[in-house]
Amino acid sequence: MIDFRSDTVTKPSKPMRDVMHSAPVGDDVYGDDPSVNKLEAYACEHFNFDAALYCSSGTQANLLALMAHCERGDEYICGQNAHNYKFEGGGAAVLGSIQPQPIENEKDGSLCFNKIAAAIKPDDNHFANTRLLSLDNTIGGKVLSLNYLSQARSFVNDHNLALHLDGARVFNAAVELRVDITEITKHFDSVSICLSKGLGAPIGSLLLGSQELINKARRWRKVLGGGMRQAGMLAAAGQYALENNITRLSDDHANARYLASKLNELNGFSVDMSNTTNMVYATYSGNTEISKIARELKQQGILISPSKSLRLVTHLDVTKDDIDTFIRALSAHI
Ligand SMILES: *Cc1c(COP(=O)(O)O)cnc(C)c1O
Repeated sequence: MIDFRSDTVTKPSKPMRDVMHSAPVGDDVYGDDPSVNKLEAYACEHFNFDAALYCSSGTQANLLALMAHCERGDEYICGQNAHNYKFEGGGAAVLGSIQPQPIENEKDGSLCFNKIAAAIKPDDNHFANTRLLSLDNTIGGKVLSLNYLSQARSFVNDHNLALHLDGARVFNAAVELRVDITEITKHFDSVSICLSKGLGAPIGSLLLGSQELINKARRWRKVLGGGMRQAGMLAAAGQYALENNITRLSDDHANARYLASKLNELNGFSVDMSNTTNMVYATYSGNTEISKIARELKQQGILISPSKSLRLVTHLDVTKDDIDTFIRALSAHI
């Protein structure tokens, strides 16, 4: 199958499976799993944080960050399109008693500082305590500029807030900007990173922060049922992903640009040609039902999520030839 639905569909490669198979393991709840410990230490060193926590998913890593930064009755500010607001089941409110204060995202995915400032609550018993600003990078495939991140850091310093990054795809941002990951992460008090998207691990996310923050998060991870035992078999896949699958993300971005240009030539498709790393956004206004097109493509071994506004994602299991195959098949069906 050629699968454009998401970069979460990537499957562990043979060499990744081999390191999983031979990974030394122990009980991570006792802190005894050498492979988990190695991954967390590696992440601290490479991201320049004091502490790291291996988590089952990005949703869990974000929730733990929110619960470690905020207490019951506190508030975090984020974008309307923030993953941890829109796509995580309202977990912060449901499980953390933390109130989200969403702000409309600008076209480039950023949040306007004046709008954030206006949403910060005064110190008064009527209001929740505003504690944290949470940003996503990439967001909808778009990269926030380093300049914007540095402004965000000064902003939170001025307003006495902490700053969290939902960096599920932060490596896509770093690769696109051609900077070391720390040029992005240095602005934040905590960062979550998905190992199981474009990096190609089957499972797992990392949360990074101060020792104090990660101690709290580790406790909440256990409370939420996320304390895993011989998790080293999974952590080893994450380690392999960090050591081998980062620089190749630029291939995914080149493939996405290629896909965007080819798709834009087809009748009925209008493609967002702004830089969106490994994602291509397009609208379809042709006469054939998009769900019918998707069904026919599926019979030819190509998967897309059918919608009038399409999102197609490139990743390590999609090649340039696959894109040609897709464009050929698509032009026959529209
Ligand atoms: C996928 C994603 C997450 C959540 O990760 P899961 O592992 O699916 O829980 C969080 N934030 C962003 C921006 C994501 O794209």
